Amino acid sequence: MSNVTVCVRFRPLSSKEKKDLGDNICIQSMDSETVIIKDEKEEGFAFSFDKVFYEESKQADVYEFLVLPIVRDTVNSINGTIITYGQTGAGKTYSMEGPNILESDEKKKGILPRVVDGLFACIKTSADSTKYTVKLSMVEIYMEKVRDLFDLSKDNIQIKESKTQGIVLSGATEISLSDTAEALQSLSTEMNMASSRSHCVYMFTLNQESISEKRVKSGKLILVDLAGSEKVEKTGAEGRVLEEAKTINKSLSALGNVINALTCGSPAKANHIPYRDSKLTRMLQDALGGNSRTALLCCCSPSPSNASESLSTLRFGARAKHIKTSPLVKVSEEKCSKKNGDASGTRDESFEKILEKMSERLNDEDIKLLEELFIQAGLFVDPDSEEDLESAIQDVVQQTISSLMKAVEELRSTVEMLQRENNAMKGRLAVAERCDALPGENADFLHKIFGFLSSFIPEM
Ligand code: ADP
Ligand code: MG
Repeated sequence: MSNVTVCVRFRPLSSKEKKDLGDNICIQSMDSETVIIKDEKEEGFAFSFDKVFYEESKQADVYEFLVLPIVRDTVNSINGTIITYGQTGAGKTYSMEGPNILESDEKKKGILPRVVDGLFACIKTSADSTKYTVKLSMVEIYMEKVRDLFDLSKDNIQIKESKTQGIVLSGATEISLSDTAEALQSLSTEMNMASSRSHCVYMFTLNQESISEKRVKSGKLILVDLAGSEKVEKTGAEGRVLEEAKTINKSLSALGNVINALTCGSPAKANHIPYRDSKLTRMLQDALGGNSRTALLCCCSPSPSNASESLSTLRFGARAKHIKTSPLVKVSEEKCSKKNGDASGTRDESFEKILEKMSERLNDEDIKLLEELFIQAGLFVDPDSEEDLESAIQDVVQQTISSLMKAVEELRSTVEMLQRENNAMKGRLAVAERCDALPGENADFLHKIFGFLSSFIPEM
């Protein structure tokens, strides 16, 4: 078991921040792992991480510490995930891509072009008896839908779980890359399609075919540039932007809930981990709870004007630091001949076949209910795959469990509230009875006082 690597990066003050508050900053560096941040009330909070990158840090520093070990793992068939988190304008995209993806200034290049360089560099130094292929998928999660950035007509890609490959994007376009320049060109064209109001996901798959052994090993490297985590009240968003912000916040709080569930002490297995509560958490299921080496870069502004957002980003990072994953050397060897490809059949055909299979075991009403559930959950299922079927049913079951747990929670708080009200009523009744036992005027007087007091203390 190892922990998720969590680093924090403070970008330089922006010109607006400088104009508003001069060179003031709300952070104090203790050392390369510990930083103190002051909130609006000047109260200081100390946080320690694997590394804190301060304003003068270089893109290469971040890559070498946080990313390069994961790139090397990918080449050794260990899956890896790198996530950037933080409020809008905190430097997530700058860290992930650099000023732009085709940036020629070596120093300014971000994680993504360096990863591409790194992967092809590892391939060049490897043995001739191994044939490598690098594939890339690019999707964004926008308004809880996964959209293929290589084919915008695929705007509702389904996330599935396969026993051999882990979490997969069913039917997402995968382009084969043969060199760095080509990879960057593809990335740069499609990146313009991505919105900063979406979570952007770059998925590299590296296949290694050993010519002598006729076997394929594969490693996956996922880069995630999250949408901003700012508060809606502060940005004053309205209309569509408000809806986008609400959806983003919902998925980021689902991410927070998953992290809480994974780190709240009891063994992870005994706990329900709500991966299926959002597309983002479902997509990151391997990264957070499974077979993946995971790194989180929390991006922050150092300005006092953003202190509360930076503080909440640091708190998020501190919680994530407690996640333990087991990046096994997953040598997911598959016979070369194994069919690799998209789920076959259309959606309608899939439903029909599943329902036909089900009808052998279930009654008409059960079938109808399942059909409704599949449609509501927007599930696409490969009818030929037992695994798919199991995973689809599991999806529905988990979603139902999640909503039932929420309902139980609501019910519990309603019962508690009713109990409190009941106790208060009993109290009032007892006092009123005692008042009634008193003679005439005294009783009226006490009733008045009691009425007056209980308007202030409803629980009395
Ligand atoms: P986010 O993706 O978190 O919304 P960006 O990466 O777009 O934020 O950064 C906002 C602005 O700050 C951009 O103009 C970017 O160039 C600049 N910036 C962010 N981080 C750095 C950095 N480490 N060094 C220099 N400029 C940065
Ligand atoms: Mg961005």
